[in-house]
Amino acid sequence: GKPFPVHAVRRDFPILSEKVNGKDLIWLDNAATTQKPAAVINRISQYYLHENSNIHRGAHTLAARATDAYEEARSKVCKFIHASSPREIVFVRGTTEAINLVANTYGKQTLQPEDEILVSCLEHHANIVPWQMISEETDAKLRVIPIDDHGQIQLDEYEKMLNPKTKLVCVAHVSNVLGTITPIAQMTKMAHAHGAKILVDGAQAVSHLAVDVTDCDYDFYVFSGHKLYGPTGIGVLYAKENLLKEMPPYQGGGNMIQDVTFESTQYKVAPDRFEAGTGNIADAVGLGAAIDYVESIGMEHICRYEHSLLEHSMEALHKIQGLTFLGTAEDKTSVISFIIDGLSNDKIGNALSKEGIAVRTGHHCAQPVLRRFGMETSVRPSLAFYNTKEEIDEMVRVLIRLKKGQHNFYLQNPHFMVY
Ligand code: PMP
Repeated sequence: GKPFPVHAVRRDFPILSEKVNGKDLIWLDNAATTQKPAAVINRISQYYLHENSNIHRGAHTLAARATDAYEEARSKVCKFIHASSPREIVFVRGTTEAINLVANTYGKQTLQPEDEILVSCLEHHANIVPWQMISEETDAKLRVIPIDDHGQIQLDEYEKMLNPKTKLVCVAHVSNVLGTITPIAQMTKMAHAHGAKILVDGAQAVSHLAVDVTDCDYDFYVFSGHKLYGPTGIGVLYAKENLLKEMPPYQGGGNMIQDVTFESTQYKVAPDRFEAGTGNIADAVGLGAAIDYVESIGMEHICRYEHSLLEHSMEALHKIQGLTFLGTAEDKTSVISFIIDGLSNDKIGNALSKEGIAVRTGHHCAQPVLRRFGMETSVRPSLAFYNTKEEIDEMVRVLIRLKKGQHNFYLQNPHFMVY
């Protein structure tokens, strides 16, 4: 196929021309958040310039514009993840709120004492803590599906854990620390065979992989707009319509009611029932623009290019003496975690930052998976389709220099040698 037009694509992202510490910004922290194309920035601006209103279509002209823009964004999300109907799309603040919503509505309603919730060892804290909280409230048990040394979920162990008490399986589609793509379609079939529902945390998946919630038969699929080149403060809860119908509301307030008296309230149907109060209208519209933008490039092209970047990176990093990768699963997106012998992760992060290179160092809000590999923190460059091989090479050059500097330092100061 044609080479990926990375230089043209880069011009769509104004922030990529930013200077940081006197250097060209090299943004390799895409798993934390992605940068925004002008199309998204301009769409939000357009909304505030020409459409801003609260959403109650009938009231006046701007209300109609705002309502239409908001509902159009919902339809774009619906098509993007291949949901059956926009009524299955609930706008929330992000992945975290979506999971808390499911835990506190569906979870609270269905979980009985001794019921079991399964999460995997590679979950983000957002897919652990809400389940711990709801387990405590309902006396359900939280169990952990183990992963192997490559950072892949152990399906045989998962199969053994499934039983009639299993009510919910909550698993990431892609790990934010290791980049592992989990066998989520198969895990869904296995959960359903045991009568359990599945919630898929798609926060790290939607920007790298084509997602089809209907084909894969997920019950719940959640993600954040800001990791998909969209704004912060907007995210998506997809749930099958029949599940949403049965779920009690999350928060009470305006926008979600059919009729209120002091004696009782009738709620609207989904998705309105779950969108109490004035929502993040402008950023939902911005998310719609982000989806348009991603689709204009094409997920297939994005996948292929990012994979070639990943291979290039792993090869280049591999040459650094004393570097150990975390996460070597065969199915992997462009999230890379490593440590380097003798260099603290903070030191690596600071040295890179001085050169304008942004990577994440720390526990990445996923302490259990790091501890599975005997670590508290790692260095995590994560790539997007606007990154280049030259940027990766620059990162590797800085790391090699740092590593060499360390050697020189030890040679000159032998009493600092640690064995
Ligand atoms: N799950 C995963 C796998 C993530 O990577 C993240 C973001 N780091 C989250 C959940 C939480 O997303 P947010 O902070 O946008 O709610």
